[in-house]
Amino acid sequence: MHLPLDIDSVKGFLDPAEGRALHDAALAAAVRGPVLEIGAYCGKSAVYLGTACRTAGSVLYSVDHHRGSEENQPGWEYHDAELWDHAAGAMDTLPFLRATLRRAGLEETVIPIVGRSAAVARFWTTPLAMLFIDGGHTLEAALEDYRAWAPHVIRGGTLAIHDVFPDPADGGRPPFEVYTRALASDLFEEVLGVKSLRILKRL
Ligand code: SAH
Ligand code: MG
Repeated sequence: MHLPLDIDSVKGFLDPAEGRALHDAALAAAVRGPVLEIGAYCGKSAVYLGTACRTAGSVLYSVDHHRGSEENQPGWEYHDAELWDHAAGAMDTLPFLRATLRRAGLEETVIPIVGRSAAVARFWTTPLAMLFIDGGHTLEAALEDYRAWAPHVIRGGTLAIHDVFPDPADGGRPPFEVYTRALASDLFEEVLGVKSLRILKRL
């Protein structure tokens, strides 16, 4: 894997080993269709996934309302004051995503979609070779992402979920909830786990 920019210069919380696993999964999946991620933030996962999509001749749709998750808001643990849009009185990570994609030369490969996951999903019909869920961490948001998007993953396609913490002491439960539901559905089987990333395959 060769990344087109210094990945440490991109804000975000994705671990390099998780990034590599995402890249490798996308490289294998993307020859069969497009990849879609929920949760772009400043574009860290988009660089890993997008680099693989470019090699595979595919594209990445990167969905985010760019107003930040609960834990990104002022006063919360993962707030970054540099991402605050004073005119809007809200977070705005979209300029950072654009800068990342420009610097990485991925503007022809990664297509940002600005909107709430469920709103974007409403009329979505394109089958997905791979889906990466890394959006909101409330149970409502995580379940909505899973219910709205997982049915679009093709047979043999890939479902990746971030921030899966089996031990509640390590982090919030909703992504773990989604992960257990996906396995219990008998539609997905686990392929790989790297830190808090889980990679599943649609049967
Ligand atoms: N994948 C990113 C990190 C994503 S952080 C990386 O590699 O760095 C989670 C993102 O999900 C935030 O940017 C937040 O704005 C977005 N988000 C949270 N809830 C959302 C929702 N319901 N619809 C769209 N985006 C959402
Ligand atoms: Mg995450």
